[in-house]
Amino acid sequence: MDTIVKKIEDVNDEGAVYEQAGEILKKGGLVAFPTETVYGLGGDALNPKASGKIYAAKGRPSDNPLIVHICDVDALNELCVDIPESAWRLAEKFWPGPMTLILKKSAIVPKETTGGLDTVAVRLPNHPVALSLIRKSGVYIAAPSANTSGKPSPTIAEHVIHDLSGKIDMIIDGGEVGIGIESTIIDLTGEEPVILRPGYITPAMVKDIVGEIGFDKAILCENKDKGFVPKAPGMKYKHYAPSGDLMIVEGNMEDVVDKINLMVKNKCNAGAKCGVIATAQTCDLYECDNIRVVGDRNDELTISKGLYRTLREFDELDIQYIFAESFSGDEFGTSIMNRLLKAAGYNIISV
Ligand code: AMP
Ligand code: MG
Repeated sequence: MDTIVKKIEDVNDEGAVYEQAGEILKKGGLVAFPTETVYGLGGDALNPKASGKIYAAKGRPSDNPLIVHICDVDALNELCVDIPESAWRLAEKFWPGPMTLILKKSAIVPKETTGGLDTVAVRLPNHPVALSLIRKSGVYIAAPSANTSGKPSPTIAEHVIHDLSGKIDMIIDGGEVGIGIESTIIDLTGEEPVILRPGYITPAMVKDIVGEIGFDKAILCENKDKGFVPKAPGMKYKHYAPSGDLMIVEGNMEDVVDKINLMVKNKCNAGAKCGVIATAQTCDLYECDNIRVVGDRNDELTISKGLYRTLREFDELDIQYIFAESFSGDEFGTSIMNRLLKAAGYNIISV
């Protein structure tokens, strides 16, 4: 299959691109598009065949449900039943935005889209291209991240082209995303709201709106206990992982730098290709051929935005061993650390 790639030069005026993409979606085809979190791989959420194609293109396990993207809060009434009042309050505060709500699904949502579950994940994204596409196509768009399953999510169109070119109908290039890690997922189907996946919308921000909240165990610990099933099916799979072996080093910054420099030296002496994930504050302190600045410690958004791009750059260079600094464990920092830990398969040492 030839994949059409269209660049959006002016986010406010690209009618023809949306018309073409909308036709593809209405016929059951797949279109990748930017959102404020990461690029999504979209198909008609109410068409079971389109959902099937999404799983096939990504190589995604079919029990890992998709997020349905809407452009108007009222769509909740069509897609969901028994909507709690907390959903409307969260929607009012954080939509459009990087927040996904899990609610009981209505009969029109096929189980192919929800991985067999009776619940559905819904998000109203805050990106002009995503919103125009949903509005102009007239379909609810089921869209997981537009990467090969298990790989780091795409933050620029080139990542999508790398993973999915030839496998999907169209890619809309809207430049680099703003946040760089996936949405915060909140399950509203139980007694109290539960955060299933951390993101830019932090626990404190959610608590402010709905009071007490719970956390799914899958968020910051390795899921090794027998019988422990994360509530977001996707959280049980290896995720966001580069091809090289990634290790995180935490501790006092001076000790971290010393330890990483020592490990790089040992691996390089043994003939291996190494990379270091550094920050603006530390990049000059390393001795390694491949040092990447993921972002600035004083601006967490630069780190979230740079994380997946950095992991992918090391893949391009065939780096065998990647050493990363650790990031702060509170609020948005927890979300960044959640992705880094999963990418590293929980390979972390303290110095
Ligand atoms: P992605 O779109 O790649 O960010 O993946 C979507 C995430 O949402 C995965 O971790 C899914 O397991 C999770 N998810 C989607 N639908 C549901 C649902 N109905 N219940 C719980 N988690 C869900
Ligand atoms: Mg994903």
